[in-house]
Formats: sequence, structure tokens, C-alpha cells
Amino acid sequence: MDESGIWEEVLKYLRKELSEQEVKVWLEPLSVVELRGDMITLAAPNKFYKKWAEDKYLGQIKKVFKENLAIEADVSVIVGAEKKQAQAEVSSVPSGAVVSVPKNGGTNLNKEYIFENFVAGSSNEFAYSACQAVSEGQFMQYNPLFIYGGVGLGKTHMMQAVGNRILEKFPKMKVLYCTSETFTNEMINAIRMKKMDEFQNKYRNIDLILFDDVQFLSGKQRSTEEFFNTFNALYDNQKQIIITSDKTPAELPEMEDRLKSRFSWGLIADIQPPSVEEKTAILIKRAEFMGLPMPHEVAFFMAENLVTENIRELIGSLVRLSAFSSFHKRKVTIDLARQALEKFLVKKDRVVTSENIIDAVSAYFNVKMADMKSKKRTKSISMPRQVAMYLLREKLNLSLQEVGQMFGGRDHSTVLHAVKSISDKYKESREVQLIITTIERELYS
Ligand code: ADP
Ligand code: MG
Repeated sequence: MDESGIWEEVLKYLRKELSEQEVKVWLEPLSVVELRGDMITLAAPNKFYKKWAEDKYLGQIKKVFKENLAIEADVSVIVGAEKKQAQAEVSSVPSGAVVSVPKNGGTNLNKEYIFENFVAGSSNEFAYSACQAVSEGQFMQYNPLFIYGGVGLGKTHMMQAVGNRILEKFPKMKVLYCTSETFTNEMINAIRMKKMDEFQNKYRNIDLILFDDVQFLSGKQRSTEEFFNTFNALYDNQKQIIITSDKTPAELPEMEDRLKSRFSWGLIADIQPPSVEEKTAILIKRAEFMGLPMPHEVAFFMAENLVTENIRELIGSLVRLSAFSSFHKRKVTIDLARQALEKFLVKKDRVVTSENIIDAVSAYFNVKMADMKSKKRTKSISMPRQVAMYLLREKLNLSLQEVGQMFGGRDHSTVLHAVKSISDKYKESREVQLIITTIERELYS
């Protein structure tokens, strides 16, 4: 299981309550090392962090696990191995140097952002095929390639996949990934230290530039100017430029027209929010990558019912589900997903009644209500009867007596036996899981 992912999820909620500074200094260095039984174990880099976390944050951490991840447990902190440094997505400026030097064997790309990990579909196929073409080395055909789309829809992943593929095929090529922010920061540093030559050298002496989130240059006159010059230099030398943005060039506010018009010289491709089918495929692929056994109907259930269109959040839900499943030592089922992700599911305002349940069950099994109420004990009747009893208890919390009453005045021990029998089978039998989930889908959609 991906424990670093879980801690990222927890931090997301802690950021809402604490200052960015506190989270950065005291909480980011911690990590989840184990989720077991009734204990969550965190590791701190040294005893000071441990003490600080114990004195100041334990309550809040516990609360986030409970309220946001549905994991109720005690939290303990140990002094443990140093947290693995997450792969740098953005190059930072080392002290003393004006511009950052890419790590990771010559690139600053995230090695996980590759085409093999990317699910293509109708929402992103246009941008995807343009990226594929560029990664064949067909530079200048789509230059610049301008990709726009909402937050968390895969822009960064897609553009870096081009970089990774290019380097795989043409290891000598110089690929540079940067964001508006790094670009701006490095430029400011360069001006301050009077090393603009070095800065310009870095940005103009490359074969492929991946310029992420260009919208953040809006309103920054000096950076825009510098980017304009960089763009021209690269373009004139027939170097490939890929740009991402959350808006189309025309919609970018406070951006110079001459730059906007250049963005339109090549190809403008959009990424739309994923469809349910694409979300399902992403969840399945990602779960596989995380080593989480994920039945397809659960992926479909999540894709259909999670409120978000943001793929980053979709993946976040998967991390929570994984944590929940390993914590409670339960297999991933729709029911488990429902419990782990309750807060994020579409609220169906439909109120389900006992009649709805009985109707759905008799429709599913094609049996009459009168038969379910009767004394008949053939399997074709008793199974639907038991399923209906189980659902009435599960969904409506009816008492054993009430359920017994509905089925021709059966006594509570009969009902109890029926409910237990189905819930036991539900844990083991795929067939029973399928029956229940199909009826549930009928009830709630
Ligand atoms: P953006 O840059 O558009 O905000 P990202 O590229 O950062 O979005 O994507 C957010 C997360 O979702 C990343 O972890 C990325 O790997 C994943 N992701 C996005 N789109 C896809 C996709 N089509 N297939 C697989 N993973 C995806
Ligand atoms: Mg991005």
C-alpha cells in the first residue's frame, strides 16, 4: 500500500486547519509507517519532531483520520527512518546558484509521468495524439503545442510523458520542464545577482521546453517579456515548445496579445473532464499500480458516484479506500467503498422505502411478494426472502420484529438467521455481492 499517499491525504485536511508554515515545518516531515489493528504509527525524523507532534498535533491528526478517512484509531509517533524525498516535480534553486540544475540523471521530470500510466479516452484524445506525435520527434509540426484544461485533468502528466518518451528515444536531447513559478523565481534571482546571461543560456539552449501553467504569468510584465523572448529564440531555432494552461490563449487575462497570438501558431488542444468509463479505467489502472485488488464493479461504482471530476482527487479517494481496506482488513467491495468514501459520494436524495426494497428484490429474482410472505421454503423463494430481509435491516435499520411482521409474522430469530446468512455469504461469494450491488444500484439510481 502507498503510505505516502495516505499522509498526503491527511496533510490536505490539516492544511485547512493549520498554517501552511506549521504543516511544512512540522507535519510534512512525518510519514505513516503502519496502519494496524487500532493503531496508526507515524514516523518522525528525530525526537524533537516526535515530541512536537505528540504535544501539539496528535489530537488533530487523530481527528482527521477519524472524520475524513473513516479510520478511528490511536496515533503513536516513533522516531523512524527519514522520509523518502518525493521526486521533485519542480526544480528549486539551490543556494549560491542562479538557476537550478536538473537532478535525476539530467532531467527534472517525474519518472512516473509516462504514457504507459496514462489512460487515453475521448476526453483527452486530441491532446493525447498531438503529444504522441511530438514524442515521435516530429518537432515543429505542432509548435507550439498548447494544451488547456481544468485542474487535475492530466496536463502536467501528459506533457511530462512527452519529455520522458523523448529522452528514452533520444537521450542526447535537452528537455526542460518548468512552471511559470520557477521561471519567474529564477529570473528574479538572475536579475538580482546580475546573471541574466546564465538564465537565458539555460532556457534557450534546449531542444524541448515543457512550460507548465502559463496562466500564472498573467499580469507579470517582466516575466512575460522574458518568456516572449525565450519563446522567440526557441521557435526561431526550430525547438519544440509545449505549454499548458487552464484557459485557452484567448481567455488568458492580462496576457499580451503578441504572446497570445504566438500561442495560436501551432496547435491548441483541450482536455475535458473524464467520462465515467474513463474514470473507471483510470481507477483500475491506478489500483493495479498501487497493488490494490480492485474489482471492476467497485471502480465503476466510484467513478459513477464520486462527486469530483478532478483526477487527482479521484486518485486521492483510491488512496483512502486502500488505507481503509488495509486498516480494517477487509476486501475492497462496493460496501467498503461506500463506507470509506461516504463524504465524497453523490448524495442521492432519493428516500428508499421498505416497499422499494421488496419491489426491487422481487423484480430481480422474478418472484412474487405473496410468495416471499408465504411459508414456502424452496430455494427459489427463500433466497430472495433472505436478501430482502438483509436489505431491510441494512438500509432501513428496521427491527427484527418489524421485518418479521412484513414476512407473514415470522419470529425475530428467523430474521436474524436470514440476515446473518446473507451477510456471511456477502463476504465470501462474488455471486451474492453481485446480487446485492445490482439491487442497490436499482434502488439508488
Ligand atoms: P493537471 O496538471 O491538469 O492539474 P496532473 O497532470 O497533475 O493534472 O494530474 C493529476 C493526477 O492525475 C496525476 O497524479 C496524474 O498522474 C493523474 N492523471 C491525470 N490524468 C490521467 C489519465 N488520463 N490517466 C491516468 N492518470 C491521470
Ligand atoms: Mg499541472
